[in-house]
Amino acid sequence: MARQQRVVIVGGGVIGLLTAFNLAADVEQVVLLERGGVGQESSWAGGGIVSPLYPWRYNRAVTALAHWSQDFYPQLAERLFACTGVDPQVHTTGLYWLDLEDEAQALEWAKCEGRPLAAVDISAVDDAVPVLGGGFSRAIYMADVANVRNPRLVKSLKAALKAMPNVTIHEQCEVLGFVREGDKIAGVNTAQGEIRGDEVVLSAGAWSGELLSKLGLELPVEPVKGQMILYKCAPDFLSCMVLAKGRYAIPRRDGHILIGSTLEHEGFDKTPTQTALDSLKASAVELIPALADAEVVGHWAGLRPGSPEGIPYIGRVSGFDGLWLNCGHYRNGLVLAPASCQLFADLLLGREPIIGPAPYAPEGRI
Ligand SMILES: Cc1cc2nc3c(=O)[nH]c(=O)nc-3n(C[C@H](O)[C@H](O)[C@H](O)COP(=O)(O)OP(=O)(O)OC[C@H]3O[C@@H](n4cnc5c(N)ncnc54)[C@H](O)[C@@H]3O)c2cc1C
Repeated sequence: MARQQRVVIVGGGVIGLLTAFNLAADVEQVVLLERGGVGQESSWAGGGIVSPLYPWRYNRAVTALAHWSQDFYPQLAERLFACTGVDPQVHTTGLYWLDLEDEAQALEWAKCEGRPLAAVDISAVDDAVPVLGGGFSRAIYMADVANVRNPRLVKSLKAALKAMPNVTIHEQCEVLGFVREGDKIAGVNTAQGEIRGDEVVLSAGAWSGELLSKLGLELPVEPVKGQMILYKCAPDFLSCMVLAKGRYAIPRRDGHILIGSTLEHEGFDKTPTQTALDSLKASAVELIPALADAEVVGHWAGLRPGSPEGIPYIGRVSGFDGLWLNCGHYRNGLVLAPASCQLFADLLLGREPIIGPAPYAPEGRI
């Protein structure tokens, strides 16, 4: 693609921000449009585990993006920290899965994929994680799993983009529809007027399906509500991530501990509920009994961009010249972001893609 192109990106979550970051070096102008403030939706609300929760249960398409991203995260964080002073805090703690029903499949998957996942004796887990509850009998452990402090990641990305002279961010700028000239998508309509571009990228998270329906296309991306709670403990209180029965604890470097999460189909409603608070507190205490005496210092909900099998849509929309998708990352948008946005930039710029793009192509899936 010629360098003198103007790319308009719709949505300023981690996917839109990192797409802008990756394109900025190679296109003349990048314009990012965000309805609210950038990085305030799912990308802020998520837990930031740099792995799918049960990676062996996913399609290879998700695994391929996850592995590329996991290797890349430390250098991305270092680069962002160096250029903005905001540290996304990639915290490699390792992750224990407790009392898994498909442990054998997990271990088999790890062997095939060459991932360092191993069964460990529960007494060794108790030694490594003294605050762990007593009700568990089996564990598997992967040492190299990290979590990223996602609110800082998006803050850092925003700061990096603000320092790039060819990137413009418009916040409080809602995209209402597309500017269509025959088969060509020539820009978007916003509450503030028309904004034209040579290429338009839809990365509007859970809202992507709604927006694409303006063109008569049915994109199966739906909001899936997730609630989390937060505790503040001493920095050395919990040294690694633990997960049982779909609920997990994530320690941040400063002692904050996130407990997540619910999976709810409530449309676009993101009101935190008492039922979820009670249920998350019960899970927290089951995992780590000492949390019964700790105060919950935060409780929120976010909307994941749910998609079939959690396989994102990355690539060109056929029949609409100039229209691209990078959305539908469901439960894994934070871990998948680096690979998805690199692959996306490769496709838009006509470079050799980092991984085979076929499973993510919108064609045949919408
Ligand atoms: C509770 C919870 C826990 C999670 N935990 C993890 C985890 O541990 N690891 C992991 O990898 N992932 C996790 N996720 C998933 C992850 O957060 C998402 O997959 C990811 O943030 C999606 O990023 P996004 O940029 O596509 O969407 P978003 O961050 O939602 O961004 C989309 C943006 O588009 C904007 N927008 C929408 N419509 C318009 C419009 N018309 N005009 C302009 N702008 C618009 C929105 O305002 C929003 O800012 C979790 C999610 C939740 C809710």
